[in-house]
Amino acid sequence: MTSSEKDSPPSTDSHANAARCFALVPCAGSGSRAGTVKPKQYELIAGQSMVMHTLAALQSVTRLYKTVVVVSPTDTHAWPESSVQRLQCGGATRAESVFNGLSALLAEGAHNPEGVQAHDWILVHDAARCLITELEINRLIDACMGDDVGGLLALPLPDTLKAATNGRVSATLPRQDKWLAQTPQMFRAGALHAALQAQAADHFEGITDEASAMEMAGFAPKLVVGSPHNFKVTYPPDFALAEDLLGSRK
Ligand code: C5P
Repeated sequence: MTSSEKDSPPSTDSHANAARCFALVPCAGSGSRAGTVKPKQYELIAGQSMVMHTLAALQSVTRLYKTVVVVSPTDTHAWPESSVQRLQCGGATRAESVFNGLSALLAEGAHNPEGVQAHDWILVHDAARCLITELEINRLIDACMGDDVGGLLALPLPDTLKAATNGRVSATLPRQDKWLAQTPQMFRAGALHAALQAQAADHFEGITDEASAMEMAGFAPKLVVGSPHNFKVTYPPDFALAEDLLGSRK
């Protein structure tokens, strides 16, 4: 038995309490690398704020029962009236924002059967990946629904990978087994919460995505091929590229 089989969350799905899919969108970053005045997720791209494109894609997926956004406690963004539920509990790091949001959702689910239960699936998706599509989200759900652990969208590394010291190449690394992690990342709510909680005392050091927390807990998340268009808007030139791609879809 592998460690992931040994520690797999028990399969509690039955007709009465089949696992549902919830989306959790960390949206509490400051986007310091983007060089924008306001947090990058609120910058206008192709006529609306970046996060609204992200939410539109998530809300087009009929198998997503509900989408919840985690914003900063100091967030003053004017959200449209009819948009999704927001939890004002973002943290100092992305992992902390996800952990705080998931903790709040599970606490609500403890006294509300409509809320998130430990066996439900959580799809964590960056607000800053506004080019995600319904097709890719459904591909991830199809690949992970029947899996004991869950998984993530990712891309096999296309380029040659270099290690650097002081701005010079110190080594060329094998790329055959390397993937670039994207989001959404889909795990059982209870298992992901436990995996993140185990890293809280270390301030989520090294936990840059949900899969890394699950790996630290002994699981091997499934890699599901994503799309190069699902990049995270991070640096100034990324905005124009996102605008062109979103415009070309209209
Ligand atoms: O900063 P980066 O682009 O890696 O952030 C990825 C996602 O995590 C963004 O949607 C950002 O808003 C979110 N985030 C967060 N809380 C933080 C830092 C980032 O919710 N403290």
